[in-house]
Amino acid sequence: MNTSNPEHANPDPRMSAPMQDPKAAANPARPSPARPKLIGAPEPAPKWIPSAAQFDTIRALIKSVLRVSSVSISFDGSDLLRTSGVRAGFIGVPLVRNGELVGALRVLDSADRAFTAEESALLEGFAALVVDQFELWQQASRDPLTGAMSRRAFSNDLHKAVAASARMDEETTLILFDLDHFKKCNDTFGHAAGDATLAAVGRAVAGELRAYDTFGRLGGEEFGILLSVPLAAAVEVAERVRRAIARTEVPGHPALRITASFGVAQWSGAMADAAALMDAADARLYAAKQAGRNRVLDTLPAPALSVVG
Ligand code: GH3
Ligand code: MG
Ligand code: MG
Repeated sequence: MNTSNPEHANPDPRMSAPMQDPKAAANPARPSPARPKLIGAPEPAPKWIPSAAQFDTIRALIKSVLRVSSVSISFDGSDLLRTSGVRAGFIGVPLVRNGELVGALRVLDSADRAFTAEESALLEGFAALVVDQFELWQQASRDPLTGAMSRRAFSNDLHKAVAASARMDEETTLILFDLDHFKKCNDTFGHAAGDATLAAVGRAVAGELRAYDTFGRLGGEEFGILLSVPLAAAVEVAERVRRAIARTEVPGHPALRITASFGVAQWSGAMADAAALMDAADARLYAAKQAGRNRVLDTLPAPALSVVG
C-alpha cells in the first residue's frame, strides 16, 4: 500500500505529487511520451547524468530525517517506469524541472511502515533540493552548445578512470576526435551554421552512447569519449560515432555535411599518467588527419624507411 497522499497539491511544479504515474505527474498538460524524456540542452535532451556520489550528502540527510533504510536518487528514464512495485515502507517522488521529468527520488524502509503526510511533504521538499543540485551540476559540467561535458568535468573523469585503472587493472580507453575542415565550414556557411553543426554533432554522438559514457567537448571542435572497454570495442564505438557524424544533417543547412577524424588509445601501465593517455590518443588523431581524415586510427603509422648509401 502506498501511504503517500496523491492529493497533496503544490503550486511549485518541482514539488509534484508523490509518484503514481511518473509521466502524468511530471507534466499533465502535455501528451505522455512513450518514455520519460531526460533533461538537458540543447534539444533533444542529451543523456549525461550525474554520478550517484554527487548526492551522497543529501541521501544521508534524507535517511536520517525520515529514518529509512535506503534512499535512491535516479536520473535514468527507463528506471522510472519500474516504480510500480508500490508497497508499505516505500515512497517515491518524481524529480521534475521546468515541467519535465528528470528522475526519481525513492525511499524504502525495511519495516512495512506507513509514511505520514508530513513525511511525504518533507520528501517532496528534498526532491526540490535534488533538482536544484542537479541543475547546478549541469551548469558546472556541461557545454551548453553541444550538451557534452565541459573540458574540466571530462578531465576530472579521465583522471579518476586512469587512477582506477592503475589500481584495479580495469580497462580505460580514450577516443579523441576533431571535426574535419571545420574552419572551411564556418567560412562557407557562416559562424552560426558552425555553431549549429557543433550542436548537431553533440546530439549525434549522444545518440550513439549510453547514459554513463563520458563524452566531453575539449576545445573548439575537438571532443573526447572515455570508455571502460578494451581497445577493439572502443574502435567499434568510434566507427559508429564517425558514421553518425558523417550522416548528420544540420537544421537549416541541407548542403552542409561534416566529418571527423578519430584517435583511439587504451591506458597501459607503461603510461605515466592521464596526460600520457591523452597524448597517445592525440598522436593517433593527428595520424588520422594526415592519412586523409574521416577515419579512425588506433595505431601509429610505421616510420618511413629511408635507404641510405
Ligand atoms: P582540420 O581538419 O585539420 O581539423 O581543420 P579545421 O579547419 O577543422 O581546423 P582549424 O584548427 O584550422 O580550425 C578550427 C576552426 O574551428 C576554427 C575556429 O574558428 C572554429 N571554431 C572553434 N570553436 C568554434 C565554435 O564554438 N563555433 C564555431 N562556429 N566555430 C568554432
Ligand atoms: Mg578540425
Ligand atoms: Mg581542432
